[in-house]
Amino acid sequence: MKKLIEVEHLRKYFRIKLGTLKYGSIQAVEDVSFFIYVGETLGIVGESGCGKTTMGRTLLRLYNPTSGRIVYDGTPIYDSEKKISVPMLPYRKKMQIIFQDPSASLDPRMTVGEIVGEALSVHRPDLKGKEYRERINEMLDTVGLNSEHANRFPHEFSGGQQQRVGIARALAVEPEFIVCDEPISALDVSIQSQVVNMLEDLQQEKHLTYLFIAHDISVVRHISNRIGVMYLGQMVELAESYELCSQPMHPYTKSLLSAVPLPDPQKTRAKKRLILEGDVPSPLNPPTGCRFHTRCPYATEECSQRAPVWKEYAPGHFAACHALEGK
Ligand code: SF4
Repeated sequence: MKKLIEVEHLRKYFRIKLGTLKYGSIQAVEDVSFFIYVGETLGIVGESGCGKTTMGRTLLRLYNPTSGRIVYDGTPIYDSEKKISVPMLPYRKKMQIIFQDPSASLDPRMTVGEIVGEALSVHRPDLKGKEYRERINEMLDTVGLNSEHANRFPHEFSGGQQQRVGIARALAVEPEFIVCDEPISALDVSIQSQVVNMLEDLQQEKHLTYLFIAHDISVVRHISNRIGVMYLGQMVELAESYELCSQPMHPYTKSLLSAVPLPDPQKTRAKKRLILEGDVPSPLNPPTGCRFHTRCPYATEECSQRAPVWKEYAPGHFAACHALEGK
């Protein structure tokens, strides 16, 4: 299978001021490597603040990476070692994003037609007048809205409809790859499945490739071909969805899966839970060695001293944990 995206040793640090003449850096994404095949959905899960969104935005170069390498369809678009940082305008058409909060991502002073048409006017200047309006209407129709909605403002829509506008905006320029950044977490449960089903249908119809970010592993499991698990800025496990959910290797993945409720309440009560103690450490001052050692029930002294190696333990199943290293 052909790889569309390749990410190697990606880092994103944010410099912050801690006091007079004192600065620190938040290590939001630390040494993350993965790839995405053409036409697949790679899900990314992890707790809030683990760096999922920052990683998605850095991959699109909405944030400038601190270091690492990003390759799109065989072309390096960023390489800190070789000092490659290509202009992103031609890639904006190919790489789009659906934002987490639909109301915050839509300009309240623009009509829906103007919002969906904004990227078109940049990337498809050939579309004018009737053709331009027809393209906007076609996009609204694709996401289950209609041409009458083009003259309305975002506040006149429900959360689910606003997210549909966000999806229409991303689709307008006919992208190949979309970062879906928690696209359903701000929606009612009843609307979530509609939006997920619509994204799946659009993927089939338009041959799209997704990076699907969410904190709920049961949603990610449903939509993804493969899943990557992030903890405190690092990828700790990555495998095919079924394998990751049925044979998790990393203790953090096991704890996430043990928190998923089962349809039968009796089975949920009988289920053995792996409950983590303590809070997520600060990315401003992450723990030494394995970043998970302060909460891991299997931590040894070595875990606090030496970072585990990211390794393939079964075909396509990667993890980073000392407990696996002898296997
Ligand atoms: Fe736990 Fe150690 Fe494995 Fe980290 S390396 S997940 S602390 S056992």
